[in-house]
Amino acid sequence: MSDNSARAAEGCVFCQIAAGRIPSIRIYEDDDFIAFMDIAPQTEGHFLIVPRDHYPALEDMPEALLAKALPLAKKLGRAAMIGLGTPGFNLLQNNGEVAGQAVAHWHLHIIPRRKADEIPFKAGAPADLTRLPFVAENIRVNLK
Ligand code: AMP
Ligand code: ZN
Repeated sequence: MSDNSARAAEGCVFCQIAAGRIPSIRIYEDDDFIAFMDIAPQTEGHFLIVPRDHYPALEDMPEALLAKALPLAKKLGRAAMIGLGTPGFNLLQNNGEVAGQAVAHWHLHIIPRRKADEIPFKAGAPADLTRLPFVAENIRVNLK
């Protein structure tokens, strides 16, 4: 465990789960990640992919770890589709309290979707085309 993780582990539920001090229903683990069932699922089969080490949000995650996360989501998402018979899933990642992040230890949600479920992930209202170029420019000028 890194110093970073050691400091965070005490107060962090996902560090505690990774260390086996809080129980979880695991579906996968390797040297870098664990995946376990969400305790308050959005749909049946909702699970989380969590790095063993503690990084609060996306901007804190090492790129090497991020490079492994998406292929793992592909692998586990495919297993969920086959195993649960669900035709699709949402991949969700919240950053910051304002975005609904309740656990400040970076994680991916895999949320299996079924035709009849009622999770409101839908397209938004049409953009204001007079504002859109300026909004885009505020992002573009801060790229590093
Ligand atoms: P987020 O809002 O993106 O931080 O998501 C945190 C997720 O962690 C929520 O979906 C919670 O239901 C889930 N969660 C919190 N504590 C536990 C736990 N002990 N075991 C499994 N899932 C948990
Ligand atoms: Zn943690």
